[in-house]
Amino acid sequence: MDDGGIPTTDDLNPARVARAQFESAVPYLAGLSDCDGWLEFLFQPERVTKVVLPVVMDDGCVHVFHGYRVLHSNARGPGKGGIRFHPAVDEDDVVALATWMTWKCALVDIPFGGAKGGVQCDARLLSMREKEALTRRFVIELGDEIGPHTDIPAPDLYTDSQTMAWVYDTYAMFHPGENCLPVVTGKPLDLGGSYGRETATALGGVFVLERIVELAMVPGLGTLEGAAVAIQGFGNAGANAATLLAGRGARVVAVSDSAGGIHDPDGLDLAAVAAAKSEHGTVTGYAGAKPLGPHELLEVPCDVLIPAAMESQITRANAARVDTRVVLELANGPTTPAADAILRERGIPVVPDILANAGGVVVSYFEWVQNLENRRWDERDVESRLKATMVQAVDTVATRRVAIREGFEAVRQSWRESHPGAASLPVPDLRTVAYVVAVGRCIRTVRERGIFP
Ligand code: NAD
Repeated sequence: MDDGGIPTTDDLNPARVARAQFESAVPYLAGLSDCDGWLEFLFQPERVTKVVLPVVMDDGCVHVFHGYRVLHSNARGPGKGGIRFHPAVDEDDVVALATWMTWKCALVDIPFGGAKGGVQCDARLLSMREKEALTRRFVIELGDEIGPHTDIPAPDLYTDSQTMAWVYDTYAMFHPGENCLPVVTGKPLDLGGSYGRETATALGGVFVLERIVELAMVPGLGTLEGAAVAIQGFGNAGANAATLLAGRGARVVAVSDSAGGIHDPDGLDLAAVAAAKSEHGTVTGYAGAKPLGPHELLEVPCDVLIPAAMESQITRANAARVDTRVVLELANGPTTPAADAILRERGIPVVPDILANAGGVVVSYFEWVQNLENRRWDERDVESRLKATMVQAVDTVATRRVAIREGFEAVRQSWRESHPGAASLPVPDLRTVAYVVAVGRCIRTVRERGIFP
């Protein structure tokens, strides 16, 4: 650590990032855990499954892919978490993502644990037939490790409702005579999907942002009307957030995808950006705006910065140049612990992923409930329940933040005494407070359940 409590190195390994974030909550959990073993039990993933996936490609050759499914915790309910197709997928990546799902579900208080899956591949290079074959083989290899009451997948990076339809169909083939719809969420509407799931992650994030602004938790930002917004990633989370925020009077000044970005301080024409993305496969096909490199977007002057692409994007290397009033993490794990420390020093609040992007899993939970009951809720019903859930989660974090800050000096003192030589505790940021709420709920549950036998 340097003098400001900022780590001098930046560890980009997502599993170690997840560990560091978890540990930031530990000093505030005294009284809930009388020995380190409970916390260690809670932190370790319960199951890590690795599968080898041979696929006959369109040219007739066989290509071998590697897939992972991690059940981090089922203490509070069945595992829940997306499946991503991406070249950066590996065991540590999926372990971290599954861990974040556990805290996220606990924070928004839905009865799921945490899980995640992924296949190491570049989905952009696969034909539809190859993607279908890969998905089906993945589901077959996972067998009964997924199930409506054990572990329930959903979409994530480079997977969508069509991918989820294949997951459902493959699983259903092996479970005839059962209601298999709740085995996976994010399905197409025709196939037991829920109204509102497609936009749920972005809309949940917007509800969170609106509430945080309303509670005056963002210095210098009193309204979203006219606010300048920059968004990294123009997929499900990012593109929907752009449209929803523009619909609330915000100005989307910059967006990017894996090929690069575009910037116009007067605001982008989002319909034209979407048209360019569908025609050219990238937002950089939009004419009339200044081109940006993918990382330049994170330094564009704005009021709201939304990383909505990948992990480890705001790092020690660029956090000092981030030029925003608030960061809303629609992506999972976009900010490293070193960057968190820098932004904390600079007074820029970071709305953490486990809160900001939880709308997706909340509406997945609604889909699961509808599937179990063989019913469908209308769109307004889904939206109002989503809003209530997200606002409740923000209010819980806001209230706990006040309580933690009031008792902070006492915690800092007792931590110093019990951990001589350890770095001094920083004033807790929103992520730490959210972790205290989420991990606290989980630790209470594992203690109530006890250890079998
Ligand atoms: P997506 O596949 O629909 O879109 C991803 C977008 O990110 C694409 O536009 C892609 O071009 C862009 N991208 C990829 N690498 C990039 C880079 N290095 N720089 C800039 N842009 C890049 O994925 P998604 O579902 O929107 O997921 C995005 C993030 O949101 C992920 O971190 C995911 O885990 C998280 N998330 C998604 C959901 C959901 O319901 N889809 C829920 C919670 C969290």
